[in-house]
Amino acid sequence: MSHTEIPGPRRDVVGYGGQYPKVTWPNGARVAVSLVVNYEEGSELAVGDGDTRTERTLSEVAPMPWPEGRRDLAMESMYEYGARAGFWRLMDIFDQFQVKSTFYACAVALERNRTAARVIREKGHDVVCHGYRWEDVSLLTREQEREHIRLAVESIAETTGERPTGWYCRYGPSVHTRELVVEEGGFDFDCDAYDDDLPYWTMVGDRKHLVIPYTQVNNDTRFTHGHMGSPEAFEEHLRYTFDRLYKEGAHHPKMMSIGLHMRVAGQPARAQAVAKFIEYAKSFPEVWFARRFEIAQHWREHHQ
Ligand SMILES: [Zn+2]
Repeated sequence: MSHTEIPGPRRDVVGYGGQYPKVTWPNGARVAVSLVVNYEEGSELAVGDGDTRTERTLSEVAPMPWPEGRRDLAMESMYEYGARAGFWRLMDIFDQFQVKSTFYACAVALERNRTAARVIREKGHDVVCHGYRWEDVSLLTREQEREHIRLAVESIAETTGERPTGWYCRYGPSVHTRELVVEEGGFDFDCDAYDDDLPYWTMVGDRKHLVIPYTQVNNDTRFTHGHMGSPEAFEEHLRYTFDRLYKEGAHHPKMMSIGLHMRVAGQPARAQAVAKFIEYAKSFPEVWFARRFEIAQHWREHHQ
């Protein structure tokens, strides 16, 4: 079958091909658990921010048609819950169990809640850049996307006091994103992939670039898509994932990503499911709760 040259990364349906690298996580952990909190609230589509459309997705109500240019105050408010209440509940849980997480943070969202930005850093959580706003970058030109990456880095460096070294788009990258992330020069890795249980190197032009895959499976978005209703279902799903990886990890340690959203998993019942899962995973001896920059560092040191 012949290929025409199209922009963007080449597809790879082979990966490690079942020949896993010999991974030795710190303290001989069988599983590296990467908790991720998406910090998006305040940067989503909003008529007040000059968008013609309002945000319709990843919330508590099924997406429904909405007239262009009209604010949806109910939707705005459901988002605001995440930054006002959900954030603090998840932070309390991380404190209680003494685990660190990674925040996928949209720059504008942190500009609008500077206390949260400061607390994330003070408590030692890690920040991966999740865009300037929470936006679909495939709608931007290459130049616009480059500019948004620049603005996002500058803003997060200012609100958190440190420049982010990881990148993750809303939902998925454009065909230009990975190249732009490499060209920017200050990023150690991106998370714009869902294709493996381990980090891997890829080539971007003649540069080696690290990818730390993320998940839409162990993700609270399953609630908002109607795939999952009860908190027990979520907790059980996380537990099953962990149990399988812990078993495999006796020979082939892997990583387990968990995706959370403050407006979703920050709701009490779901937060309780998250807390129960963390308590469960922590009851096993060989587990590493790792921030993504630590996973990147480990991979750079041991798997060049
Ligand atoms: Zn996100």
